[in-house]
Amino acid sequence: MVIHALLAASLALTALPAQAAQSAAVDCARVKCLALTFDDGPGRTTPALLKALSKARAKATFFLVGKRVEERPEVARQIVARGHAIGNHTYSHASLPAHSDNDILDELKVTQDVIEEVTGRRPTMFRPPYGQTDERVLGLAGQTELAQILWTDTTLDWSLRDTKKIKATVLKAAKRDGVILMHDVVPQTVQVMPEILKELKKRGYHLVTVPTLLRGKGPTPGESYF
Ligand SMILES: [Zn+2]
Repeated sequence: MVIHALLAASLALTALPAQAAQSAAVDCARVKCLALTFDDGPGRTTPALLKALSKARAKATFFLVGKRVEERPEVARQIVARGHAIGNHTYSHASLPAHSDNDILDELKVTQDVIEEVTGRRPTMFRPPYGQTDERVLGLAGQTELAQILWTDTTLDWSLRDTKKIKATVLKAAKRDGVILMHDVVPQTVQVMPEILKELKKRGYHLVTVPTLLRGKGPTPGESYF
C-alpha cells in the first residue's frame, strides 16, 4: 500500500522554500486571524485553490485523505511547498468510532506514513471524518502523536454546491480566531474562493494555518482543539 518509489521524490523536498515559514511570523494575539481549513483532498480542484490562496498570500490547513495522497502525490507536495499546514484525515475517510482500536490505529498510522513518504512531513494534527469522534478515538490519536482539530464553523459546502450560498455562509461565519471547515474537493468552493479571500482581507483578516492560530500553545498530541 505504501509507495516506496515516492521516497526519492520526498527526499528531493528537504529544502523547502522560505515561504513555508511566512505565516509563522503573524502574531494572532495582535492581529485579527482566521484559519480556513479544507478537508478530503487532494483532489482534482485542489491546484486551482492553491493558486487562489497564493495570489491572496493566504495560508490554509489541509486535512488529507491517505488514499487520495497516493492518487495525487504531486498535489500533496505542492500544498506543503506553498507553506500550508497539513493534517491527517484517515486513509479511507472512515467514521472512526464504529471501528476497533486496531482499525483506527491503522487508518491513522498508514496515513501518517503515506503523507510523510510523499511530502517529507509527518502530520501532528488529525481531523475525524464527519466530525465523528469520542474519547477512545482521541486516546488512539494521542498514541499516534496526533492532536484532534475540529472547527468553530462549518459551511456545509458539500451540500450547498452553490457559489453564492457558499460565499455568504463563509462570510457570515468568519470571526476572529475562527476555524472554518470547507472542502477543496467541492468545485464551487474552489471557484468562489478568490471572491471570499478578497472580502476577508478587506475585512482585515490575516488568513493563517491552524498552528499559527494556536500561537505556539499546540497542537499537543492527544488534545482536542476548537
Ligand atoms: Zn472529510
